[in-house]
Amino acid sequence: MSLAGKSAIVTGSTSGIGLAIATALAEAGVDVMLNGLGEAAELEATRAKLAADTGRKVLFSPADMTKPEEITAMVRAAEADFGKVDIVVSNAGIQFVSPVEEFPTAKWDAILAINLTASFHLAKAVVPGMKARKHGRIVNIASAHSLVASPFKSAYVAAKHGLLGFTKTIALELATHGITANCISPGYVWTPLVEKQIPDTMKARGMTKEQVMNDVLLAAQPTKQFVRVEEVAALALWLCSDAAKNITGSNNVIDGGWTAA
Ligand code: NAD
Repeated sequence: MSLAGKSAIVTGSTSGIGLAIATALAEAGVDVMLNGLGEAAELEATRAKLAADTGRKVLFSPADMTKPEEITAMVRAAEADFGKVDIVVSNAGIQFVSPVEEFPTAKWDAILAINLTASFHLAKAVVPGMKARKHGRIVNIASAHSLVASPFKSAYVAAKHGLLGFTKTIALELATHGITANCISPGYVWTPLVEKQIPDTMKARGMTKEQVMNDVLLAAQPTKQFVRVEEVAALALWLCSDAAKNITGSNNVIDGGWTAA
């Protein structure tokens, strides 16, 4: 699975799934640009540790995924420093849980911007270089919510369904250019994103923390286990490899059987 000599951008890689994917890529010999929000000293410590652990070039971009011009600038910076961008993993995402009639409009806009529209700006910026080199891997982190819905997550479900449609569309456009575009759709993965929605779900459904974890989150997951970030990273790595060059426009579910039901 060696990807030695390749370079990648992973958005939202200061935490959770994105950090695991960036780590797996760097361990496979890929130079990586990290991205995300956080406290400056912590971000620099994460960057420096990954570079020291793997011996790869590891950069950091503070680009805000709600700002198209910052997304384009992040891609141009990576192209300038690495000389090329072979792989982009559009992973940054946020969640908000609320009945639709109370759903704050600003939250709807932010979720659509970060979880869907940022992937468009990212693809738009990297595709010209990938086409010129006749090689590229676009991996969009969607969700089981790209296929099924859950109440109180209207913006998230809309964004993830949209992300799958977008990914399939560009897969067709890029199919003869050596560029693949695929989604990974995890079920519940134990990360800060999941942990943070527990209090809101407790409020929205009038439940205890244990009830939310067992009766809401893992209720949908037949394996009754959270997916680990390393498992999602292994799938991303494989989609970036040569072995997956004929896999494009696909939705790779890693959801403990959730969407089989
Ligand atoms: P997380 O909260 O641990 O990490 C989210 C990352 O996105 C962080 O690095 C954060 O800094 C970054 N981010 C947030 N807003 C940003 C912005 N405006 N600009 C740039 N970066 C921003 O979340 P996670 O659970 O690792 O989720 C990662 C992705 O996986 C998301 O797209 C999420 O929807 C998806 N996903 C997660 C799960 C799960 O159970 N955790 C399940 C299915 C899909």
